[in-house]
Amino acid sequence: MAQPETVHEGGCLCGAVRYRATGAAHATSLCHCRSCRLSTGAPSLAWVIFREQDLAIVAGELAVHRSSPGVERGFCARCGTSLTYRRANRPGLFDVTTASLDDPNAFPPDKEIWTSERLSWEAINPDLPQFEEFSAPPS
Ligand SMILES: [Zn+2]
Ligand SMILES: [Zn+2]
Repeated sequence: MAQPETVHEGGCLCGAVRYRATGAAHATSLCHCRSCRLSTGAPSLAWVIFREQDLAIVAGELAVHRSSPGVERGFCARCGTSLTYRRANRPGLFDVTTASLDDPNAFPPDKEIWTSERLSWEAINPDLPQFEEFSAPPS
């Protein structure tokens, strides 16, 4: 999908860690999986996926927690904000938490994933495609 070149910035609650994404987003989603839930303390977590080469940490440093084999979740070690996600078996892509962007409204999720782990009281958006696990088979 052809989109104009764009720059989007974001960062953590305390301001120590900042990132900059250039170029178009690869995908967006709202994830209901338990790992996302526990990594943030939130009932679900929205993501924007960029190409790894388009995403740069421009201030501070990401702390990294390996939440599953091959999965790295990046966060601010000072304030705890969850910022990034990277998976070894999905090279070349780098996700940021939508809510950590300076303009989260620019990237509404276009699908819901891992609905098999959704909290019973967490509302579903009937306008979005729902996937019980990933939206596509792991490649
Ligand atoms: Zn911080
Ligand atoms: Zn998840």
